This record gives sequence, structure tokens and C-alpha cells, in this order.
Amino acid sequence: MPKTKKVGPTRGLGPRYGSTVRKRYIKVITELKKPHRCPQCGFVRVRRVSVGIWKCGKCEFTFAGGAYTPSTKLGVVARRAAKGQTFEEANQTVQAESSEVESATEETE
Ligand SMILES: [Zn+2]
Repeated sequence: MPKTKKVGPTRGLGPRYGSTVRKRYIKVITELKKPHRCPQCGFVRVRRVSVGIWKCGKCEFTFAGGAYTPSTKLGVVARRAAKGQTFEEANQTVQAESSEVESATEETE
């Protein structure tokens, strides 16, 4: 049987850090390495330049985002705030959306 070549983001890590950490690492790294959609031109050509810095290879649009993904929950809040809502209002909307399931079950009291 031929030796299987170890590939994947965790090659080089070897057996260190344990499988749980490695699985988590794979998830983050795959999210990090896959191209993301550009908010400017819409092409899926956005790559991470540095931690929190994302750049579109199509239109050279550079923007700040999350450390591992270009858009964060805070980014959504910031965009809503930019549309005219205050930060508190926008933040409440996001919180309401994320606790929708919880409040739905609470109403059956
Ligand atoms: Zn672009």
C-alpha cells in the first residue's frame, strides 16, 4: 500500500495540540482561505491580506473586517448604524434577531 500523503491545513502541525483543536483550526482556516464576496464589485475575489484586513483581487477594494471572516456581527451593526440607525438601535435589532428562537419558546409560559 502506498503511503498516503498528508494534506490539508493541519499538515505540519503533526499530532500536536489534539484532535479537537485541530478540527477547530481546520474550520477557521478553511473559512479564512476560501474566497469571499466583495462588497464593492460583488465578485468572489476577496482574500485576507492581514488579520482583519481584506482585499478584493478584482477591484482592489480593501476593507476592514473580522479576523477570520470579512463580515462580523459588529460589522452588520456598523452598516445599520451607517444607514441612519443609532448604534443602540442597530445593536438591539441584531440582539433581537439572535434571540428570536429563545423568546419564541419563552412566550409559551
Ligand atoms: Zn471587488
